[in-house]
Amino acid sequence: MQALQAFYDQLTIPRKVVITTHQKPDGDAMGSSLGLYHFLIQLGHTVTVISPTNWAGFLKWMPGCKGVIDFDYDREKALGALNEAELLFCLDFNVLHRTKNMEPYLAALECTRILIDHHEQPQQGVFHYGISDTSKSSTAEMVYDFIVDSGYADLIDVPIAECLYTGVMTDTGSFRFPAASASVHKMVAVLKSTGFRHTQVHENIYDNFLENRVRFTGFVLLNRMEVFYEYNTALMAISKQDLLRFHIKTGDTEGLVNYLLTIQGMKLAALVIDRDEERKWSFRSKGNFDANTFARTHFEGGGHYNAAGGRSSESLDQTVRKFKQVIKEYAIQLQ
Ligand code: 5GP
Ligand code: MN
Repeated sequence: MQALQAFYDQLTIPRKVVITTHQKPDGDAMGSSLGLYHFLIQLGHTVTVISPTNWAGFLKWMPGCKGVIDFDYDREKALGALNEAELLFCLDFNVLHRTKNMEPYLAALECTRILIDHHEQPQQGVFHYGISDTSKSSTAEMVYDFIVDSGYADLIDVPIAECLYTGVMTDTGSFRFPAASASVHKMVAVLKSTGFRHTQVHENIYDNFLENRVRFTGFVLLNRMEVFYEYNTALMAISKQDLLRFHIKTGDTEGLVNYLLTIQGMKLAALVIDRDEERKWSFRSKGNFDANTFARTHFEGGGHYNAAGGRSSESLDQTVRKFKQVIKEYAIQLQ
């Protein structure tokens, strides 16, 4: 993979571009993709954003979101754009299997593939140009750097600011995580100078749920949480029945895992949800517990040091039993 800087010269040549991201895109995946979209169209490129799957309702207000193609829903249209693409930007993921059903199509494309991402251990040999930096708060911050470093800071407008702010705000837990560095705050100052309304962005993302979602949160905190004080670990397992009972949709479980870390002394929080095709794990840790390695070692996953995800094809009961067994190996790290 060549450095992203080596690609800057090509920005001035109008191209057919596809931007894609990981399945079930979160605020950073959608924010960085749409931020890049609003930048590239100003340079005269023809740009299509494709998501591998659907996305949470609380992201639908984002400028440009209506034009995003859901690969699962409209495969023909998505494949049309992919087959014509001269450039493929891969944002907020670094292994092709994170694009789920799109993976074989992306692997077969012969166009130039560009990576912008902040996860651990990128897949080798897939990307022609790119930047992979785990010290970055968000992919949105990296898109901002890309725009500024390539000499186009003056193109940052309100839509770009809204999208990139959404990405950095959601990935830093509203600017509380350690990655919310001085340069993140400087970037926010530049975004603010476009005049965009950050309070509105917070409301759109965090105060945009239906009643059932709030009641679901109360129900699972009361009934589905276990705390293992000897391992400073909290676990929550959510069944398909729970999801059906509260009419839970994509995005409604986002942020749930963070509640577990609000219990005094907790170092590891684990949430597992019985999705149709797999059991999906979310891990969050505090301090020096490496959630990425834990997810990679035991649950076919990965991510960041303090926030990772994984999966299992076992039943919910089996995968929960496995979790309870494996944390015993980490008794010392979790002290
Ligand atoms: P979440 O728990 O919010 O789904 O994911 C936490 C972090 O881990 C995100 O940055 C996400 O991209 C990453 N992640 C989630 N699931 C997986 C997975 O199955 N594999 C890998 N490599 N990363 C994941
Ligand atoms: Mn991210």
